[in-house]
Amino acid sequence: MERKRGTGLLLALILIIYLSAVNPTQAAQLYLYELFQSYPNLHVWKEGTIVRTVKLELKEPEEQKQPIDPAPDPPPTPKRRIALTFDDGPDLINTPRILDILRDEQVPATFFVLGAKVERYPDMTRRIFHEGHLIANHSRTHPDFAQLSNEEILALELEPTSEAVEKLTGYYPMIMRPPYGSLRQDSVAFLREQGWQIVRWSLDTFDWDSTRNSSEEIVERIKTGHHNNAVVLMHCNGPTTIQALPEIISILRSLDYQFITVNQL
Ligand SMILES: [Zn+2]
Repeated sequence: MERKRGTGLLLALILIIYLSAVNPTQAAQLYLYELFQSYPNLHVWKEGTIVRTVKLELKEPEEQKQPIDPAPDPPPTPKRRIALTFDDGPDLINTPRILDILRDEQVPATFFVLGAKVERYPDMTRRIFHEGHLIANHSRTHPDFAQLSNEEILALELEPTSEAVEKLTGYYPMIMRPPYGSLRQDSVAFLREQGWQIVRWSLDTFDWDSTRNSSEEIVERIKTGHHNNAVVLMHCNGPTTIQALPEIISILRSLDYQFITVNQL
């Protein structure tokens, strides 16, 4: 019996030593584990068997962040504004290349389209619209409006063109530019009365004139002719416009121009 009691005491002693020496560590580890599981935003410092916790300042997701007394934004630097316009489209060769450049450069523009081409190239018309550009009316067949009666201008050229655009996009343009810029005074008054806005241009790049429309000449006209609220005349019908376009955008940006569409003038 004495021997058994001695063995029992020895075992009890070993157990006490084990519990006092080993268990606190295990308990601390378990505690740490639970802390991590229950409070993921607690940073837990372990110093031997002592555990201290610090509440972390976790970043809230952006959408949940409520700014506290946000400082007002400084007024934006006043920018000069300029409207790039492209006439006589859409087509399947030049228009898509112009659109590619405008998309890459994130530049909005205005396309004065011809109704006959809108009917022929519906997908390209939709693309112009869906890429955020303004579509305006440049007649259906590109006649000289000075040779037409006011009623003919409206019924044969402007209305069929805007109707064709509306059929494809849901948008009915009421901004027009007469072919060759040609419009009698009485037609100006008549169209205004009918609610039309007439937009010509203030900076001609002459990209329509094959005798003097190298891309260098086009860029030079932009450099010398740019001005605030300029309406730049270009066309969807020549490769030199496309060659010049990236440089035109770059130059105008460096001159602090913001690109707008003509309805923003
Ligand atoms: Zn034209």
